Amino acid sequence: MRATTRPTRGARAAIAVTLLVVGATGDASGATTGATSAQAGCSDTTEIVTRCEWGADETIMTWAPEFYAAQKLTVHHTATSNGDVDPAATVRAIYRYQAVDLGFGDIGYQYLIDENGRVYEGRYSGDDSYPAHDPTGTKVVTAAHVAGSNSGNIGIALLGTLTSVDATIAARAALEQLLRELVTRHGISSQGASLYVNPVNGTTRDVANISGHRDWAATECPGGTFYAQLPAIREAVAGAPPPTDTAAPLISGVTAVVNNSNVSVRWNTDEASTTRVQYRRTGVATWTATALDNRLTIAHTVAIGGLARRTTYEYQVVSVDAAGNVATSTPVRTFKTA
Ligand SMILES: [Zn+2]
Repeated sequence: MRATTRPTRGARAAIAVTLLVVGATGDASGATTGATSAQAGCSDTTEIVTRCEWGADETIMTWAPEFYAAQKLTVHHTATSNGDVDPAATVRAIYRYQAVDLGFGDIGYQYLIDENGRVYEGRYSGDDSYPAHDPTGTKVVTAAHVAGSNSGNIGIALLGTLTSVDATIAARAALEQLLRELVTRHGISSQGASLYVNPVNGTTRDVANISGHRDWAATECPGGTFYAQLPAIREAVAGAPPPTDTAAPLISGVTAVVNNSNVSVRWNTDEASTTRVQYRRTGVATWTATALDNRLTIAHTVAIGGLARRTTYEYQVVSVDAAGNVATSTPVRTFKTA
């Protein structure tokens, strides 16, 4: 921790973020998969994945929400694994890590976004009409993501490590849309910079209205490659929203050509989209995902090597279009190595 402030709630949050970065991926992303996602009985009026839907264990939430007018929006990365096949489990693990293991009482961010562009409600805000807000939807709940500057500062964390790889196209599109909604809701100029005044202790900071964690503190967050995109993101948020595309790519022509312990999986999509395969040995519960190829194409090829010989594998191909619509091939197909 490099913050020199007293150990306020914000400073403690900085410890959490730092440890997530330094501690690499294991503790944060692999700690717990106990809770179930998309629990039955969750009421949902927004497209945001609510705490109920991602399976937040509310018995470990011990921090009473406080609300202030929003002044700033700060972007983070979670420094967890890229190519995450169970992001809801990662959100639960981050929550448990920050709330329980580090003793902070709740998750540090107001929102999180996964590689498929799904937005997750973070910080608990009680009886809200829009996640992370008070009942009137005008004030934002205080979280714990920037040391000493949390009240009125909305933290949005992209799942993954964006130090040398950029956000996925789907995550980027979702971030821009969320930022667009939030600056509109709160009357914040997306390309502006102004003096942040902490409404609790009066301290001030002069930062961009849409900033990265590193603009506030000595941290690598939100990752150098992604951070370089912030000017373009501000510009996109200020402009008109892109035309709505709600149709997932149509997958066709899926084939798997086996050569000993290697396989080449090919498919086509009816619109430009990303490329990834998830596979597992028959009988194994968890999928292994190939590295995400973020380039948008209609002809997809993925080579997978190092497979066990004479073994049957199940696989699905996954493509995401520029608007974040996800297509996963069904039913599950199989191939057998030679
Ligand atoms: Zn951060």
